[in-house]
Amino acid sequence: MNTIEVALPLPLDPLSYLPPQGEAPRLGARVVVPFRRGLRVGLVVGVGTTRTPHALKTAIGYLDEEPFLPEPGVARLHRAAAFLFVPAGQVVADFLPFIEAPFTHRVRLVKGAPRPPGWPDEGQGWLPAKELPAELLEELRAGGVLEEAVAEAVPEVQILRPRRRPDTGLSPQARAALETLWALGEAESQADLARRAGVGAAAVRTLIKKGYAEVVRAPRELSPPPLPIRPLSPLYPPFIPDRVHGGRFTERMAVLKGLMEAGPHLVLFPEGALLNRAAVYFPEAVRFSGSFPAALRRRLWRVRKKSVLGSFQALFFPEDFERVVVVEEESDAHKLPAGSRAFLPELARALFPDLLYLGAAPTARALFFAKNPLRLKPRRVRGRVLDKTRHKGFFAGETQALMRQALDKGRQVLVMAARKGYAARLVCGQCGFEPSCPNCALPLRYHKDGKGGRLVCHQCGHTEPAPPRCPACGSELLLARGPGLDWIADDLAARFPGVPVGRLFSGGAHDLKPLAAGEPGILVATTRVLRQNPLVNLALVVFPWVEGFLPESDFRAAEGLFSLLWQLADLDERKNPYFLLQAYNPRHPAIEGFLAGTLEDFPRSELALRQALGYPPVVRMVKVEVSHRQEGVAAEAAHRLAERMQARARPEEILGPAPAPVPRVRGRYVWHLLLKSADEARLAELVAALGPAAPARLRLDPDPIGFGGLLE
Ligand SMILES: [Zn+2]
Ligand SMILES: [Zn+2]
Repeated sequence: MNTIEVALPLPLDPLSYLPPQGEAPRLGARVVVPFRRGLRVGLVVGVGTTRTPHALKTAIGYLDEEPFLPEPGVARLHRAAAFLFVPAGQVVADFLPFIEAPFTHRVRLVKGAPRPPGWPDEGQGWLPAKELPAELLEELRAGGVLEEAVAEAVPEVQILRPRRRPDTGLSPQARAALETLWALGEAESQADLARRAGVGAAAVRTLIKKGYAEVVRAPRELSPPPLPIRPLSPLYPPFIPDRVHGGRFTERMAVLKGLMEAGPHLVLFPEGALLNRAAVYFPEAVRFSGSFPAALRRRLWRVRKKSVLGSFQALFFPEDFERVVVVEEESDAHKLPAGSRAFLPELARALFPDLLYLGAAPTARALFFAKNPLRLKPRRVRGRVLDKTRHKGFFAGETQALMRQALDKGRQVLVMAARKGYAARLVCGQCGFEPSCPNCALPLRYHKDGKGGRLVCHQCGHTEPAPPRCPACGSELLLARGPGLDWIADDLAARFPGVPVGRLFSGGAHDLKPLAAGEPGILVATTRVLRQNPLVNLALVVFPWVEGFLPESDFRAAEGLFSLLWQLADLDERKNPYFLLQAYNPRHPAIEGFLAGTLEDFPRSELALRQALGYPPVVRMVKVEVSHRQEGVAAEAAHRLAERMQARARPEEILGPAPAPVPRVRGRYVWHLLLKSADEARLAELVAALGPAAPARLRLDPDPIGFGGLLE
């Protein structure tokens, strides 16, 4: 007997069910199945057979006639699960969570079946399943006497429509409301009509009560939030490139537009702001963002023969695309923070070998994989680096002079902060003592809020009042190091009295109005400025401390900085700002490469380094994280895993075990083991051989982008 293998959006392998009563298996369709004590929507990702059908539950019904995920997509889904070392259900949960539509569920007894106790008297026809006890339905289902029907529920809204013309039986208020409703045709809600007519809610209620207006249910027309449309003439490259770097943002988009004329493309963006920035040039394409309501994503999923500009949830979009494009592949936002922890550029390459990389600057990865580059003329870079060891204080005299000059000319200055908050480290100037978190092996960050300030752990949230003097030596000389955005902004406000100082970071923006109006001023911002740029008259970009953007535990940090610099140079299509980079290492290759205005020198040196170290993209890497509240248990488990590996692995295939760069997080001790191989099948063998780590906790991070933190 046939079975269907159903992947639910849960971290589980597919589960076997019998197809719905009287139905054949439908690969790729959504199906409602009993799961635990309720019903869930899953995806049919396989068809099998069983000799013991009585051991399996029967699926309730399909939600789709045509596959929701056609066959090539199902194959890719399995491929993704294997590539990420997770069950297929985890891929569904991460990439297709919107399969779970609300549905209607009706039941009736099979013809001739005796009416069981508890069944309503008049019950020969269809009944809503929710009106009957779940246990009864389960029993009847198992007995094979229940017919069931499920269908996707179309999202509806309640709208207000007029029924009768206004007459003298109405108060002036109610009359005004009804006249407004006739003029509008319909209103979204009672409150909406009251607001539009400028009357109270009571007047609108009267209309309904007296039968002048009625509330009706109507299907909800969902569409993406509107964007302006900007014209853009396509550029036609003389050949089909597999990477496009350099130029301005609009030039890269024009090339994309030219390429799209060959057929629909899937363009994957790291985040919504960049997607929207691009989408204004492609009004004919489908915008598909994970931030859209699930019902809207389900509707867009059915659009065919169009290019799709999407976030990671568009990866399995059911279309035979001409080519898949990854935009700004160096972005950390391409990495899922939880679940399968897929790194989208890596996964996309596994699923679609002919990727096109497109971005301001190439990465080592793009150079390694793409052989047919289209190099657009890079933007002209103006700037210089200042040796931070040669000056005291946070801003060198020269930096301040240049800022003053720009402001005097009526221009704007962008100052880049590595992190938000006040967030300096507090260090004793006498003995070097630095307060650290009791749960994590991390220095606490000083925040100015409250009397005397607070110390906060940015990893676990532990907080305590800042000590007035050094707890170790009693000295009052506590110094702040590596300040955050608020510290820098306060410092600049004091140095440049009367000059507007705006602040911009993820989750907040302050005092941007004067800057958006074009007034001279300073914006202190994190990388958030790439998503939301209020500056209209940018003349100068200042990095007070470049190294703040180079966390040591992230082997890709340098190329992240390089790309950040190029994206800042490309922040405004019309303005070409001057860069002032204060750095402890002024010879850093990312800085030198950028200031020389060369797009590929730095990524090439970076690639050579990775090749020498045997790091990605030359190999694939899997981070194995072992953690426990007791240090000895974590260490012992990590060594046990490593020993098991050493019996099977070549020496160059394992790094570690070693304490993680942040060896204690939220009270857990963290040990790492890195598995490396250029051969994916080999990597899968190694992962399969890991075995259990209990009582320690084991987590895998495929294609890690950094080695810090604790995996959830
Ligand atoms: Zn001290
Ligand atoms: Zn902590």
